[in-house]
Amino acid sequence: MKKNVYWLYLFFTFPSLFSLGVHANANLTANSSSAMPIVSDAYFSMVADALLGLAIILAIYFFCRNRRLTRRLEKSRQQEDQLRTLYAAIDQSPASVVIAGLDANIRYVNPSFTEITGYSLHEVMGHNPSVLHSGLTSPDVYDEMWHKLTHGESWSGEFINRRKNGEVYWEQAHISPVFNDDGEVTQYVAVKLDITDRKRREQHEQAHNRVLELLSKGAPLDKILLAIVKSVETEYPEMMCSILLLDKEGKHLLTGATPSLPDFYNEAINGIEIGIGAGSCGTAAFTGKRVIVEDIATHPYWAAYRELTTLAGLGACWSEPIYGSADKVLGTFAIYHHDRHSPKPEDIKLIEASANLAAIAIERYHAVEALRQSEEKHRRLAHYDVLTGLPTRVLFSDRLKQAMRSAKRNKKNLALMFLDLDKFKPVNDTFGHAVGDRLLKEVASRMLGCVRESDTVCRIGGDEFVILLHDVADAESAFNVAEKIRQALNQPFKLAGHQMNISCSIGIALYPENGVDERTLTKNADMAMYRAKENGRDQAQVF
Ligand code: GH3
Ligand code: MG
Repeated sequence: MKKNVYWLYLFFTFPSLFSLGVHANANLTANSSSAMPIVSDAYFSMVADALLGLAIILAIYFFCRNRRLTRRLEKSRQQEDQLRTLYAAIDQSPASVVIAGLDANIRYVNPSFTEITGYSLHEVMGHNPSVLHSGLTSPDVYDEMWHKLTHGESWSGEFINRRKNGEVYWEQAHISPVFNDDGEVTQYVAVKLDITDRKRREQHEQAHNRVLELLSKGAPLDKILLAIVKSVETEYPEMMCSILLLDKEGKHLLTGATPSLPDFYNEAINGIEIGIGAGSCGTAAFTGKRVIVEDIATHPYWAAYRELTTLAGLGACWSEPIYGSADKVLGTFAIYHHDRHSPKPEDIKLIEASANLAAIAIERYHAVEALRQSEEKHRRLAHYDVLTGLPTRVLFSDRLKQAMRSAKRNKKNLALMFLDLDKFKPVNDTFGHAVGDRLLKEVASRMLGCVRESDTVCRIGGDEFVILLHDVADAESAFNVAEKIRQALNQPFKLAGHQMNISCSIGIALYPENGVDERTLTKNADMAMYRAKENGRDQAQVF
């Protein structure tokens, strides 16, 4: 630029000086006769022209210079505006922004950081961002982050951090290294978004679905209750939950699911008698009303458990009664905190929803349990005789099939005996049906005393029984057992102050000798028994 100005100067001044020289020469030549050189008006005019040219050049030069300076000033003003805009954007950004030096110590945080974490710039300035650590972020996350940053790369990921007030929150973070002109990292910039609400919603949905899945699969109650507790604790890691169940008498609380409370505490609470002053849960179960204890250390409901709660490090306990559909208290759902804590409206909603879910699980469990017991009862009724407790015809058929399969496999003999009491009707007629029943029970017990434990005695009708002897050597051995039974039943019975004598007729059929299928074997044993009856009763007959 300077060069251009010189050229301009020469361009304007050279012609003037040239013409000045020419004129001067001409004047000297014209006045050669005179002794003194003559300086004409034209000469002055030429000098004036040259000076004018010079002035113009200088004016142009300063004009250009001024314009350059103005432009430079304008540019710097624009840059300043841009910086101000950027600063305003960072300052007003809903994302929290943290700038840290190479030593990772904080140099700047924006107002959103303060709003989200509760820490002011002054409080964190010069400190490591680890002041936010909750201990809930996997160490792998930090390892991966530092690996990338120390290699000059950006990192994106999630942190579970803790606010100044102790609350746990989730952050989506993007951290980048900042380079200088020489390509060296000078600081780190982190832009982070509070994603706690989204995370909680997602986790709540997942946990809720898991509980419903367990419910629909008919999982055991303790597993479902544990899933309910875990769902809340995952969503709110600072909370410890407990589900206690009211016992059948409705007087004591038993452990349902309390995975995060210390074992010694759970053991001490298990079986606690409900009543006013029996902690938050005992009182809630007793009154049927929600009990919010914000400070365990001073609340009268916890006075009797002060030592226990201090040892367990419990500060607050909010308990909600779990109601069944019949407006009956089934148990309690409680949320504990380590420090004194007041519930927010969303905490109350959470505790209500969890108690409702627990109610569904408990009621469903009770319904399933009742159904199982009723099925079991019906199964027992079908398979076992109510009066004597012996297997019935249904179970006998199964046992016989099994015994035949096993005898075939092991090449052993089986003996099947049909036994019918002789003249039993008169017992009923003489002493009454109830005495007849007692006699049948006593008969069953005597028969069981005559066989091995592995043998089977069944009642298949009024006074009809079958006995299955496993692994008998031959017909004679079977006959001996039958005789033993017959003689046992021949012994007088003393019932209800009466003495009575009865006898029995027994028919014996052997497997495989007298039949290799169920139908043939039973038919032949039955036939042998009728022969014993026909032959005068009180005897055993082999088919
Ligand atoms: P038999 O010598 O020919 O066998 O004559 P019985 O008198 O024993 O009569 P039978 O075997 O034909 O009939 C069995 C009787 O047992 C019929 C019924 O009155 C009686 N009985 C059937 N079930 C019960 C019961 O559960 N309790 C009592 N007390 N009696 C029963
Ligand atoms: Mg009979």
